[in-house]
Amino acid sequence: MEVQRDPGSSACILIVDDHEDNVELLRARLESWGYRTDAAADGAEALHKVDTAPPDLILLDVMMPKIDGIEVARRVKANESLPFIPIIMQTALDATENKVEGLEAGADDYITKPIDFAELKARLNSMLRIKRLQEELEERERQLLEANERLRHMSQTDVLTGLDNRRYLEERIEEMFEHAKRLNEPFACVMCDLDRFKSVNDTYGHQAGDAVLKQLARILRHEVREIDRAGRFGGEEFMLLLPGTVLDAAVTFAERVRKQIEAHTFTFDGTSIRRTASFGVSAWPHPRIPNCDVLVRAADDAMYVAKETGRNRVVRFDSDEFNEHLAADDGSDQPERDAVSHSRLPIADAGVRWER
Ligand code: GH3
Ligand code: MG
Ligand code: MG
Repeated sequence: MEVQRDPGSSACILIVDDHEDNVELLRARLESWGYRTDAAADGAEALHKVDTAPPDLILLDVMMPKIDGIEVARRVKANESLPFIPIIMQTALDATENKVEGLEAGADDYITKPIDFAELKARLNSMLRIKRLQEELEERERQLLEANERLRHMSQTDVLTGLDNRRYLEERIEEMFEHAKRLNEPFACVMCDLDRFKSVNDTYGHQAGDAVLKQLARILRHEVREIDRAGRFGGEEFMLLLPGTVLDAAVTFAERVRKQIEAHTFTFDGTSIRRTASFGVSAWPHPRIPNCDVLVRAADDAMYVAKETGRNRVVRFDSDEFNEHLAADDGSDQPERDAVSHSRLPIADAGVRWER
């Protein structure tokens, strides 16, 4: 628990002593120097006060019944939920052993009784200065951690839609695919590309296009489960990664999203815009999917077939029409496939059918 202290306000010092006279004497002196004070008559009360309202410094008597000062120091310093609280031990002049033991238990400094008040004032100042420096250091460390976290998030996120960006998707898919293989769990990949999106820009302007992409991202984010990933793979092409999902279930999922988009009215500046999307679905395990690159390529190729066969469709990578299309494309007059995809991977094994 971090106490937020007004930097202008005076430090609060907890006086721990079983002799009331000592407490009163110290209290009067500390208050005359402008400090706020609190007091505890034994170790248990001191620990309770430290827990409930951590002071800025503890002026700790060593010799107390039951829980003595050494034990209080040990417990305060062992409590990691507390901020740094300097402890100044009050020891008898000749008690070297106490001093050593106290410092080893975690006390930061000591002062001998009877107390020389000029010395006490100097030691208090020095300890409170160290505490302030410590707090500044902690604050800077916190700010650094926060900045790092913001940077990490920025490096993984698509600015326009807030979904995962492509680089992060590619990182995650490798991890997720390896994980699925290790556990022998299915893993599906869905590619989704808006149909005739270019005409949104051409008709209503680029900002309208951006608004459509954002609204589509919202639909996708809403449709996926907690364990799935939804990301923007390219301009208006999105990728959904579905761990623990077999092909049939992924196709059902894609079909549901397709219908949602078809039924959705996108809006920009009072203008209503309707669009559809085409989907390609692939899944592991399958004899022809040895790695995640091929998994992605299969989904992308299936999405391409959905475009070629009329758009606003879901095509699975092991379907007959998919195989027919691939076979037809194997000729020398391959169409300009890049027109429908930003993610074309080289077809290493052209002519091989994706068997069901
Ligand atoms: P198809 O049905 O074949 O997919 O046709 P399409 O028009 O959707 O596809 P095409 O690849 O011809 O055009 C994609 C367009 O998406 C072109 C590009 O200007 C636009 N685009 C890409 N990224 C963004 C973006 O961040 N914002 C906007 N507004 N447009 C984008
Ligand atoms: Mg498109
Ligand atoms: Mg596209």
